[in-house]
Amino acid sequence: MRYKKKEPKYYLVRATVVWGAAISFLVLLIVIFVGNKWILNREDKEIGQEDRPKTIEVTFDGMESELQDVGQCYLCGNSNKSLMGYYRKFDTIGLISLNDWYVLDFPLKNYDGEGNEVIGKNTNYMTSGNTGEIMYTCDGTVSRGMAEIEVTLTEDYKLNRDMLTQNLCQGCLDKVTASLKYWKKENEKKEAIPLCLVDFDTLEIYPMQGTYPAYFIRDYWIKIGFDENEVEVEAFYLPER
Ligand SMILES: [Zn+2]
Repeated sequence: MRYKKKEPKYYLVRATVVWGAAISFLVLLIVIFVGNKWILNREDKEIGQEDRPKTIEVTFDGMESELQDVGQCYLCGNSNKSLMGYYRKFDTIGLISLNDWYVLDFPLKNYDGEGNEVIGKNTNYMTSGNTGEIMYTCDGTVSRGMAEIEVTLTEDYKLNRDMLTQNLCQGCLDKVTASLKYWKKENEKKEAIPLCLVDFDTLEIYPMQGTYPAYFIRDYWIKIGFDENEVEVEAFYLPER
């Protein structure tokens, strides 16, 4: 038997059909590529939004004082329920537990019973206590001009607004509420920390919400550390030389 050689097959096709097919194929590739990219981009955005919830600012603006007798203001007045009347004579700074208006001073200088500074007496201080709202320890070395206050808040601490509106004049209420603003993630359960710092000399109020971890109050350098419901404040007397 003779072996028959197979001839290759050829088709006669119009040039326009060949070009048409080539161009259609190219267009199809482009459509698939662009479409895929668009879908991926959209998924990226959707996932991104879920991962990063919005950060919102919580403020206490617009709170109105209900205090009738301004002379009884816990910060600038003479209420015998506030220790500010005594501390106002000090040149130093303090910490206020706002829910029970308990005032602690940083033992950075020595004072006599009248609130006058006693120079040349070097004392180490160490006190602690529990007010019901906070547990605290206070220590300081006057000769070094350094002091520390550690505060433990209750586990479910929450700012008592009535305490502030009923016992502060409008001016002092504005100062305190301005110090309380803080940032939190949307849906995050986070409350304002019911604490602030006070300059006994100027009666200015300074924040303890974690937004500013360190700053100067006149000649006093403040460092604030947070750990859940514990707050540690270090204070250093650093006058300019
Ligand atoms: Zn006041």
